[in-house]
Amino acid sequence: MPQRVFCHECGHLLYEGEELKPPDEILQQYNGKCPKCSRKLSYIPIKVDIEPANRR
Ligand SMILES: [Zn+2]
Repeated sequence: MPQRVFCHECGHLLYEGEELKPPDEILQQYNGKCPKCSRKLSYIPIKVDIEPANRR
């Protein structure tokens, strides 16, 4: 099942892939900041949206 991770602030797609990744690893790839809106991405409290493939 594909995983998608979005920036909570601007909805930018941070990660999409078949492989389930721990959110902190994804945040590390962006140095903890959204590349689009430069918001700090923190995992606790959760500032990203993690969804299964089919978004409503
Ligand atoms: Zn953002």
